[in-house]
Amino acid sequence: MTTYDLVISRGRVIDPETGLDGIRDVGVSGGTIQEVSAGPLHGVTRVDATGLTVCPGFVDLHSHSADLAGHRLQALDGVTTVLELEAGSLPVSAAYRAAAEEGRPLNYGFATSWAAARMAVLAGVEPTGRLETLFANIAVDAWQRPATPEQVARIVGLLEADLADGALGIGVLVGYAPRTGPDEYLAVAALAARAGRPTYTHARELVEMDAGTPVDGAEEIVRAAVETGAHMHYCHVNSTSIRHVDRVLALVERVRAEGARVTTEAYPYGAGMTGVGAAFLAPELLHRRGLTPHSIGLLSTGRRMADAAELRRVRQEEPGSAAFVHLLDEDSPAEFAYIRRALDFEDAAVATDAVPLLWREGGDPARRLEWPLPPDAVTHPRTAGTYGRTLRLVREQGMLGLAEAVRRCTLVPAQVAGLARKGRVQPGADADLTVFDPDTVTDRATYAATALPSTGFRHVLVGGVPVVQDGALLPDARPGRPVRA
Ligand SMILES: [Zn+2]
Repeated sequence: MTTYDLVISRGRVIDPETGLDGIRDVGVSGGTIQEVSAGPLHGVTRVDATGLTVCPGFVDLHSHSADLAGHRLQALDGVTTVLELEAGSLPVSAAYRAAAEEGRPLNYGFATSWAAARMAVLAGVEPTGRLETLFANIAVDAWQRPATPEQVARIVGLLEADLADGALGIGVLVGYAPRTGPDEYLAVAALAARAGRPTYTHARELVEMDAGTPVDGAEEIVRAAVETGAHMHYCHVNSTSIRHVDRVLALVERVRAEGARVTTEAYPYGAGMTGVGAAFLAPELLHRRGLTPHSIGLLSTGRRMADAAELRRVRQEEPGSAAFVHLLDEDSPAEFAYIRRALDFEDAAVATDAVPLLWREGGDPARRLEWPLPPDAVTHPRTAGTYGRTLRLVREQGMLGLAEAVRRCTLVPAQVAGLARKGRVQPGADADLTVFDPDTVTDRATYAATALPSTGFRHVLVGGVPVVQDGALLPDARPGRPVRA
């Protein structure tokens, strides 16, 4: 009889690809799932999952929270793979090296960064592979200008080199440089099509928000898929569409029906977060989104902007500072319905848009390693709670159904990113597994207590190694591995 390294026994195993949903034992050895059995399996270590759900570890397509503290919060929310695909990183090799040197609890991967390439070519910003560099320069006008054909060729060249170096795709923050020529966007999509990798777009303005936009943000994404054949992933369709989500999703649905490869993602929160200097947060543009300066609050202080003058001053002095953007009221059923429709949309992935933690009393390197997190560590609650909240909505509001919700957190994102060994509970798949209690699993992070970990995720394994055990984070665990194309 085979003895495995580890057996997770008697849990309700959900494998979205085969449709398996039943009581099984899962045998793991050497970081790989070896056997899924209706009968009992034997292991050196046995985890009793009676009454619990066993599913693939969650694959987050959209996390800017690449450091140790962010990984820990996401581990307690059921995540096993953290991908930075929207902002991306240039060069990706620098981002992979930094993560490998420090060690990570969760698997990690990066797309290359159109914005960083553009900053390099148009504004002379040295690429570092770090998100801080992007944020620090997000409000610089030079990188947001239309580019000449020669400049576009150089931008595409930088991206092409990074794709050859294993980048998982191309992150395109076109919403942060909304005057970019539509031809440049199509050139980037054409590169993605040639390379056979997806693009991940933060859409530019919708026509409803800016009648003068060079192209409608949603039309641009679907057109690129149709014209170039690229796989276009539409990031956080909830937060860029807001009240226009039905028009946007209908457009996506139409081209998907015609065979174009457009995928979407959403997160279950009404507030966004970004650098306060972002183009679309200029005081004179807020009304387009139904916002006022008071809709914007700084993460560093918790303070909401009193008026346009204060917002203007903060954008000038600290453009890279993280700010809440309160787009929709989650407590209003009518407003939450917009978010629900983005989550309910066919094959939409659940993805967090997790942001880096900020330590209000100073995040020196030692404090960044502390666990539990000190009380001054803050973030957007979606960083800590997206998946716990999704599963709570399944239980409390009948959203999606449990098996379908699991699919949106696992197989769907694995398929978007092209990860054949993740998002599955099958022999040969990576032993990234999440074991949770469907009756109690919940988010706890709020806009007041932003970094409270979710509860109910009992065990989280990365490559067969426990990162969360009996609901507690193991602070020394570093089994995360790079995910490259
Ligand atoms: Zn975004």
